[in-house]
Amino acid sequence: MQKVRMVTPLVEIDGDEMTRILWQMIKDKLLYPYIDLKTEYYDLGLKHRDDTDDQVTVDAANAIKKYGVGVKCATITPDAARIKEYQLKKMWKSPNGTLRAILDGTVFRAPILVKNIKPLVSGWDEPIIIARHAYGDIYKGVEFQTKGKGKAEMVFTDDQGRETRQTIHEFDQEGGIVMSMHNTHKSIRSFAKSCFEYALGEKKDLWFSTKQTISKTYDHTFMDIFAEMYENEYKDAFEKAGIEYFYTLIDDAVARIIRSKGGMIWACKNYDGDVMSDMVATAFGSLAMMTSVLVSPEGHYEYEAAHGTVQRHYYKHLKGEKTSTNSMATLFAWTGALRKRGEKDHLEDLCTFADKLEKASLVTIENGTMTKDLALLSTDDNINIVNSEEFLDEIKIELDKML
Ligand code: NAP
Ligand code: MG
Repeated sequence: MQKVRMVTPLVEIDGDEMTRILWQMIKDKLLYPYIDLKTEYYDLGLKHRDDTDDQVTVDAANAIKKYGVGVKCATITPDAARIKEYQLKKMWKSPNGTLRAILDGTVFRAPILVKNIKPLVSGWDEPIIIARHAYGDIYKGVEFQTKGKGKAEMVFTDDQGRETRQTIHEFDQEGGIVMSMHNTHKSIRSFAKSCFEYALGEKKDLWFSTKQTISKTYDHTFMDIFAEMYENEYKDAFEKAGIEYFYTLIDDAVARIIRSKGGMIWACKNYDGDVMSDMVATAFGSLAMMTSVLVSPEGHYEYEAAHGTVQRHYYKHLKGEKTSTNSMATLFAWTGALRKRGEKDHLEDLCTFADKLEKASLVTIENGTMTKDLALLSTDDNINIVNSEEFLDEIKIELDKML
């Protein structure tokens, strides 16, 4: 069999622990035998980030800017325990935070659906993709406790020294709490652009929601920027693609989403996205079935699994025990990236291979062969629970039938 051809390399970003083990297995069993795999490799394993003073993370982000498509393995975000475990020079920042800051992207999280795992919300037939604005609001908030009687004010001083001020609250002796937060027009516009572009790419309706009735300037600005960009830049393209842009108040959106069949992209402000993505992930089944893609306003893509490095399984693996770790989200990061690379380079065979590999993995689970995390959720009576390696071997058998 002739291997599927690639032209431009994928930016391959390796990571840590159990997902690093799965990463290698996926390449060995499901990619190398079938594709003339071209990648530019960046090792974001914690040891190598430490050795390079985290320069490798910056280099990886710049490579995605250069080539346009990357695929990333889960990585450790160091904390005090990890500093000790890996004898780190310092507590390096979250690699995903660094990548997001350089690419200025929006994160889209989409669940992988299989027939034998029913969402907890019984009407949801199609995935709900959450787009979370990843900048500002309470995540860059400034807050404190007030002491004693007094007035809290918000002041803006322009570069000529002129002040605009507004009273927040007159506190009595008991005091209270105050917070100030911000966002920028630029970041909101980037967010909107990523959402409109992604919706067009996926050919799915785009929903957006805020609390503009209460927050008449802050949230209203989000709503207005989306509306203005839609009218001026995207309306025609959306109509041509047969998709809809739909804005509604966040409370109404929640009610409508629960009653819906799914199938839309739901753009959320930073906090709403944080909360709603965990709700949606849980309702669809398992974190191990949740994929994630960072899309920059320039149209650069970085694919990954939404879950972490599955540390607990890795320690079992190190002791020589077999683990039953689910590789679906990591595998779909690869197929997503290969398909996007195929689209950008006009390589139909590469797109077809990505489709078939996804199909093979779905058929495997739907025929009853799955890892332990899914077995706990499945509605099937006859389940064949397999370990991490066997699961990929079973997918390979299905894939070979399709090729
Ligand atoms: P985690 O790796 O997502 O795992 C939490 C638990 O969820 C696991 O112990 C396992 O449950 C279950 N799980 C997650 N993925 C699974 C899979 N593919 N197959 C089967 N079960 C799965 O989260 P964590 O343990 O809190 O974090 C570990 C490390 O990951 C941390 O150092 C954190 O910094 C990092 N992290 C990285 C990313 C990223 O790179 N995007 C995201 C989140 C966390 P059981 O143990 O019950 O089987
Ligand atoms: Mg959250």
